[in-house]
Amino acid sequence: MTFDLDPAMTWFVIAGVIIVVIAAFLVGARFGSRRALDRLHRYSRTHAPADAEVDPTARYRAALIVNRTKANAENIISTARAVCRFEGWDPPLIFETSPSDSGEGVAEQALEAEVDVVIVAGGDGTIRAVASVLTGTSTPMGIVPIGTGNVLARNLDIVLDKPEWALRIALWGHNRAVDVGTARLSRDGDRNVFMVMTGLGFDAEVMAKTTADAKSKLGWLAYLEAGSRTLVGRPSHVKITYDEDYRVSARVRSVIGGNCGKLQGGIQLLPEAVIDDGLLDVLVVSPKNLGQWVGVAASIIGRKTTKGLHTDIRKCRTVVIESRETLDVQLDGDPAGTTRYLAMAILPGAINVKVPTTEQRREIRAEAWPV
Ligand SMILES: [Mg+2]
Repeated sequence: MTFDLDPAMTWFVIAGVIIVVIAAFLVGARFGSRRALDRLHRYSRTHAPADAEVDPTARYRAALIVNRTKANAENIISTARAVCRFEGWDPPLIFETSPSDSGEGVAEQALEAEVDVVIVAGGDGTIRAVASVLTGTSTPMGIVPIGTGNVLARNLDIVLDKPEWALRIALWGHNRAVDVGTARLSRDGDRNVFMVMTGLGFDAEVMAKTTADAKSKLGWLAYLEAGSRTLVGRPSHVKITYDEDYRVSARVRSVIGGNCGKLQGGIQLLPEAVIDDGLLDVLVVSPKNLGQWVGVAASIIGRKTTKGLHTDIRKCRTVVIESRETLDVQLDGDPAGTTRYLAMAILPGAINVKVPTTEQRREIRAEAWPV
């Protein structure tokens, strides 16, 4: 079959096609979504000659920071590689925490590599270390909860027992700007960050007494075991200053500042704490004997939002606690030494955390549905 076009017409058609292709490319480049552009980059990358200069930012890339001491850390690494490949991301950069680096150093390296998301596979301790580096940056943090309590993951509705889903949330989830808590253990001391809760007194003593061995064998029940050994003790004299102007003197067992309030087993320690309201919820626990602890337990189980039996919750932007005695401190469940001074504040919306989208929540529910 032959086409009988005169040469002028042929050139006109060819020129028309070229103009349409160039125009489509320019419009796509100008108005196209990042994903569409990435597809284009990906295409040009896979079809480029081997020695051509390749744009390293062409595909999304994640960094995975793994706490190796957790039981299924090895599994998480291979799952992350598989999920990234399946989702069309570059292979993840894998970093591991170590006794000398609980996460800060590797998080710095991940930031320098300009990854699109830094995923933490660990517990609240590792998350806190990584969050201290990501706070104030635009790089979001993804969470694969493999710790003992996984309290932050619980508060952000990140699935606990499905690492592949947690990874998908970390890749394609919604960026939620949440608050970061800060704690100083002396007037001119360094600023520590926390995502969940910082506590002074009883709760910190429990954390200090809970061994890593007990945590791996008993899970979060280890805290209860250590708690039962710590219940009997003397209250401490403290001065608490809320928002620099409201002062209280009290004898307390514990003062806890929380960014979010949901604990294991459905316990709402701070029932009205909201992770992105720019406020700190401060719980003061002040039982004087074992009997009064029953009142404390009742107040917590009954989700008292202000004054309970030997408990008191207040919202504030800053709080300073000065103690007559030296007390234990914990930051997100990790013992942080002892102090007589603790100042806490909130950095509103200072970190982006990947949380499930509505679509992902629906898919996770559908997958869990028995068939
Ligand atoms: Mg809050």
